[in-house]
Amino acid sequence: MLKVEKAVVAYGRATALREVSLVVNTGEIVTLIGANGAGKSTLLNAISGVVPLKGGDIWLDANRLSGLPSHRTVRLGVGYVPEGRQIFGTMTVMDNLTMGSYAHVARNWLRPLGYAGWALRSDTVKSNLEMVFDLFPVLKERRGQQAGSLSGGEQQMLAIGRALMSSPKILLLDEPSLGLAPNLVRDILRLIARLRAEGLTILLIEQDAAAALKIADRGYVMERGRIVLEGSSQELFRNDEVRQAYLGKTRA
Ligand code: ATP
Repeated sequence: MLKVEKAVVAYGRATALREVSLVVNTGEIVTLIGANGAGKSTLLNAISGVVPLKGGDIWLDANRLSGLPSHRTVRLGVGYVPEGRQIFGTMTVMDNLTMGSYAHVARNWLRPLGYAGWALRSDTVKSNLEMVFDLFPVLKERRGQQAGSLSGGEQQMLAIGRALMSSPKILLLDEPSLGLAPNLVRDILRLIARLRAEGLTILLIEQDAAAALKIADRGYVMERGRIVLEGSSQELFRNDEVRQAYLGKTRA
């Protein structure tokens, strides 16, 4: 589904991605492992069009993402939950979710569908909202509340819910459990596994590499802007270097 071919990204003269290549197949959870500054967030930013590519190519199915700004990649099916959530704090929960559905509306707007198209659009938005409220009942309870007043875990749920409102094919998740209490971390990871079970494809950065490998099918290890190792989750889990460098502080 997603194919990154020799992607190069530089911030000024500092190169953050050095010919990074990876694939994510339909229905997989793939995790990116690496120390701080390895380039994981930059890779997600490049896929979603937040930072431009200096070299290489990125494809989502038959669509070339390289060179497209983020509002275009959303329409093509890239759902991005950046690090730090970045929800609209002064808007209500409901308005945040509605914002997420605009991409879906815009994508369909391009098709000359007439009245049936309008009905289809609003139906899809409605069913996406039902799905999000089903996944996160607390968001339904708090739909009129200012998003900035939600707890950290609730804000993370809102950020994921907002991305789901755009009917993504692939969800890019950057450290969804950052700053959450251990029981909420488990909830979020369980939720990610559930999203995959419901047909979504996921590329995940997670600070707790051991927890990520438990739910992922495959993983890539990044060091200083390069992919240095790839394998199935079991292979990476058993790999001595991975164990030593990234699985030291395994949560029970
Ligand atoms: P972390 O887990 O700390 O977020 P990461 O693996 O996601 O790390 P990136 O955030 O992608 O790594 O950073 C890769 C490199 O690019 C780092 O050297 C970082 O300092 C640099 N970098 C990231 N964003 C910018 C930016 N906006 N401007 C300049 N340099 C940046």
